[in-house]
Amino acid sequence: MTHEHEHHPDHGDHAGHAEHGGPGAHVHDTLAIRLAGVTAGYDHRAALEDVSLEIPRGSLVAIFGPNGGGKSTLLKLIAGLLEPWSGVVEVLGQPAGREAKRIAYVTQAELVDWSFPVSVWDVAMMGRYPRLGPWRRPTGDDRAAVEAALERVGMADRRRSQIGALSGGQRRRAFLARAIAAAPDLYLLDEPVTGVDVTTQEDLMALLDSETKLGRTAIATTHDLAAAAEHFRMVVALNRRLVGVGPSSLVLSPDVLSATYGGHLLVLGGKTVVLDDAHHHDAASGGDQHYHEDHV
Ligand code: ADP
Ligand code: MG
Repeated sequence: MTHEHEHHPDHGDHAGHAEHGGPGAHVHDTLAIRLAGVTAGYDHRAALEDVSLEIPRGSLVAIFGPNGGGKSTLLKLIAGLLEPWSGVVEVLGQPAGREAKRIAYVTQAELVDWSFPVSVWDVAMMGRYPRLGPWRRPTGDDRAAVEAALERVGMADRRRSQIGALSGGQRRRAFLARAIAAAPDLYLLDEPVTGVDVTTQEDLMALLDSETKLGRTAIATTHDLAAAAEHFRMVVALNRRLVGVGPSSLVLSPDVLSATYGGHLLVLGGKTVVLDDAHHHDAASGGDQHYHEDHV
């Protein structure tokens, strides 16, 4: 596959259907993410298979699916930290990895070493490092950006606290401050609302909502279906293959849910209950489903 954006012959308007030939350059400019036929994995085991996906700029997207379904893998591909085995990953109009300075990536909370001796302020300032270059010291602008980010996440009065001394919710806020301080065009957040208190969840989602209304793009993984349905305008159902993509109201249907979670889904008294088995990651059968509304 090549990256010949300028000379692409196809000017179709079928956003969400990259597999039928990419969109024209004018459509391209409005896309934050384009995956076409992406297969990727680890040690010869595929974690994602033939995933094609287009996410417009300004989207607030939840990637949901069972544990092991490839959510974190998808974020790593978009962040440029993992090379696909085949297919194309474009981010902010460039091949993945080119626009690292415009991306804020927050990994799953469990992966962070909390014993590392840094303050909340230090964590937020890390968001400025890509702009500083290796030997430059922070300027007044950098300090102002950190200050503003800490205010926005409600952590300004905890700036001197050691990160290891904070609650889970406070840590999540500090790492969101790092992301905001980076002033990114794209947020990639791995399980940001998992295991934090409801107030932090609500604050975090309100922040992402306002950021995306400014034209930035936010992509968060979650295995919490309720969070995906309630808070995100667009959802991507992922179980090794892409099962569905579109507005949450359309994608979160019993059909897509059972394809995403396999047999691990119960409908009880009109309520859908997901039994998320950590070892379940069968590929969904059949092709993926792309859902469209006139106004998303
Ligand atoms: P999710 O985030 O949806 O739980 P992941 O993307 O983390 O899923 O994992 C998808 C699959 O890839 C799983 O089978 C997982 O065991 C495997 N996997 C993830 N990371 C690695 C890794 N670093 N090395 C080997 N296998 C991995
Ligand atoms: Mg994960």
